[in-house]
Amino acid sequence: MNNYLLKNAYLYNQGIFQKTDILVKDGYIEEISSNIENGDMPVIDLQGKLVSHNFIDIHTHLREPGFEHKETIHTGSLSALYGGYGTIVAMANTNPCMDDIETVLDFKHRVEQDGCVNIYTYSAITQNLQGQKLVDMARLIDEDIVVGFSDDGKGVQSDEMMELAMQLASNLDSIIVAHCEDESELHGGCIHEGRYAKEHHLIGINSASEYKQVARDLEIVRQYHNRYHVCHISTKETVALLNEAQKEGLSVSGEASPHHLILTEDNIKDCHPNFKMNPPLRSQEDHQALIQGLNDRTITVIATDHAPHARDEKNTSIQNAPFGIIGLQHAFPLLYTYLVKKNLVSLETILDALTVGPAQVLHFDCQVQTGSLANLCIFDLDQSFTIEEKDLKSKSANTPFLGTTCYGRIFANIMNGEFINLEEK
Ligand SMILES: [Zn+2]
Repeated sequence: MNNYLLKNAYLYNQGIFQKTDILVKDGYIEEISSNIENGDMPVIDLQGKLVSHNFIDIHTHLREPGFEHKETIHTGSLSALYGGYGTIVAMANTNPCMDDIETVLDFKHRVEQDGCVNIYTYSAITQNLQGQKLVDMARLIDEDIVVGFSDDGKGVQSDEMMELAMQLASNLDSIIVAHCEDESELHGGCIHEGRYAKEHHLIGINSASEYKQVARDLEIVRQYHNRYHVCHISTKETVALLNEAQKEGLSVSGEASPHHLILTEDNIKDCHPNFKMNPPLRSQEDHQALIQGLNDRTITVIATDHAPHARDEKNTSIQNAPFGIIGLQHAFPLLYTYLVKKNLVSLETILDALTVGPAQVLHFDCQVQTGSLANLCIFDLDQSFTIEEKDLKSKSANTPFLGTTCYGRIFANIMNGEFINLEEK
């Protein structure tokens, strides 16, 4: 359905909430004002439901090609659609790795066939994420589906290699999206080196493994003034480093994941592998710094780091299980329930970090105005529901939030003009 009138919307746009009607014709927003006459248009009475630009996730693992037992382009993007996302960006750690033009063109073809939302990808920074040889950055960024460079899953260990990548990114006006992890600080840990690790005799992952590499990268940015984005910030030191660099006027940004914004090491239960992710859930102090960073807009992006793993892969000890949890389908209800309803973060800040924040980082269009293609999501803030495995659209179920009751149920997603009622489906 591409022609309809949304009555009684509670629209959030450019920092302001307003009660309004929205007329969509041939998929484009024709008018935003109160009391629009419907003419012969089908009317959808939203009864005050929240409407926002649909969300943008700039950190997703779709697992295809190579790991289709965990997720596919179809199931991953369906999770996104049901989570209110309209655009997602896939990480390059597929098999084959997204490091050459053939793999990228094959991915583009698959996306055209199976994608439920707009899908882009990063190219790897180094071939096969090995940190040894740069990809052909100039050739890869030429493809519209490639929006930047990331070795996510691994930090680029060699200073020289990262310097070369940043220099080239600067010349190409492209962006380095960095998974920061200094491997010399790793000792085979599985959760944060803190209270829980100590109590359960588990090897910890220290904070320096993250912030040391962020500090190194920011020094390189000071030289080349390239666009640079820090993935899944988890430590207070990283927030401080990013804040300092932004004050100097560098074009650097950072993201936090819903799980790092909601949980700490104190929430880990029974050494369950669904609490194992990289970076790990940190201390309460780190959590407070992330919330503060989101509130003062040092962190302008919430990104899911959606990382599906098959049930049998996670069905082992916390030491042996792979890192990561799924996140696309319930990011907003969880953020709304745990941060907005508890008065830790405003609804405006959360919505900005899911829309304009990521759009600015990757130069995506994110307009809700007359003449723009309708890309909107619609939420019922007062309706609660419980996250159950049977309702997951992902192929995997690795989330610590199963059984959690949330508010902010998604009612519909308007994808490139098409109204998709998710409650009827
Ligand atoms: Zn990562």
